[in-house]
Amino acid sequence: MRFFSKAPALLLTAATLALAVPAAAQDLAGGAAAIRDKALTDQTAWSVAESLTTEVGPRMVGSQGMERARDWAVAKLKELGFENVRVESFTTSAWSRGAESVEVVGPWPIKLQALGLGGSASTPAGGVTAPIVLFTSYQAMLDQPPGALAGKIAVVTQKMGRTQDGSSYGAVGVQRRAGAVEAAKRGAVGYLIRSISTDDTRLPHTGGGAPATIPAAALSTPDADLLENMVRRGRPVTVRMAMTSSVNPKAQAWNISGEIRGREAPDEVIVVGGHLDSWDPGTGAVDDAAGIAITTAAAKLVAQAGPPRRTIRVVMWGSEEQGGSSEAYAAAHKDEAPRIVVAGESDSGAGRIWTINLPRAGSDHAAMKAFRASLPPLKVAVSPAAPAFGGADIRGLIGLGAPFVDFGQDASRYFDLHHSADDTLDKIDPAELAQNVAVWASFLYTVANSDVDFRSKPAS
Ligand code: ZN
Ligand code: ZN
Repeated sequence: MRFFSKAPALLLTAATLALAVPAAAQDLAGGAAAIRDKALTDQTAWSVAESLTTEVGPRMVGSQGMERARDWAVAKLKELGFENVRVESFTTSAWSRGAESVEVVGPWPIKLQALGLGGSASTPAGGVTAPIVLFTSYQAMLDQPPGALAGKIAVVTQKMGRTQDGSSYGAVGVQRRAGAVEAAKRGAVGYLIRSISTDDTRLPHTGGGAPATIPAAALSTPDADLLENMVRRGRPVTVRMAMTSSVNPKAQAWNISGEIRGREAPDEVIVVGGHLDSWDPGTGAVDDAAGIAITTAAAKLVAQAGPPRRTIRVVMWGSEEQGGSSEAYAAAHKDEAPRIVVAGESDSGAGRIWTINLPRAGSDHAAMKAFRASLPPLKVAVSPAAPAFGGADIRGLIGLGAPFVDFGQDASRYFDLHHSADDTLDKIDPAELAQNVAVWASFLYTVANSDVDFRSKPAS
């Protein structure tokens, strides 16, 4: 055959392939490509994100905003044709912000742009006024012995680098998550950090910290620079923190879900989603209206292509930022865990997906071949490595043995916006949002319309 002229050889190759590949596999590949192309022009994800950020806005767990978000979620899932819409209640500890002010009292007085960190304690009436001790690295503060910070406000100004994979968040984020507790152990009466941010605006970025006995806040990055400049002059710098907050140890929270029911194997469930709660300064657009929008739109597109073989469930987890939704979901779905085909969460903003980690098992199945074949136009690389982290809200399911995926989004810009007043709808790029939907829709389509088993042993 190699002696044939070029054109007939190509024809013959195509014909041979057509005979060798089962019809179902061809259907999957064709269907995946079609749903990918449809997703790139579909407006569902954008309209879901627009609706959530406009009609609900900020939605801290335990707040009235979160109650509105619950009602919004139920109505939106029903409106989009999801079945079995469920509201699963649980309780969790919810911190909420009161009045806050942070200012330099002397020698050069100025009001600083700061936001309390989740878990921060309130100050006594009148605030706490104390000299600061500034550390340009978190480790330098940890190196202080007990008592070394007695009567002082500890300030950590370690900078966060810009990375495409968001890895600097894991590394630097610890100064937000654990720093107030560490500062208090060393005697500090207050704790300030440079925001976990890659931006240079004067907007501070909040976020969760461990419950602390001292007040804790994040400074805007220019204000952290300013404190460094003041300290460099060698004179004592005094700061006043006046902050109030409250904690409800048993706040009502909800994991909300809706399903595209499978026609042949309805008990085999694919669980995907994002988190419905947010921090309070912005409208929670990139964190995480985007993830809600992407996964909801992808499931809806699969339904439009015809009832799938397996069930797709979209979950809007109700307390990611302050914790509790992953544990509550796993506890409520423990018996179902062996029937969960795969789990996935979209919670890294609205940047395009650039890398994918799939379970090693199942990678040779026609469904995963069809999925991978749909990806080149979307410019996504499939990593040979198994996924390491699928999302905070599916940790509990993963702990129960559910297979999971990790779709890595470009996080280069995410930490300019994350947990700040700049997390608003206009920061979502509609084309990048649609690219996310295309990847998720192709994945859901191929998994839901096949018998791919991510628990089976990988082919050696
Ligand atoms: Zn998030
Ligand atoms: Zn967040």
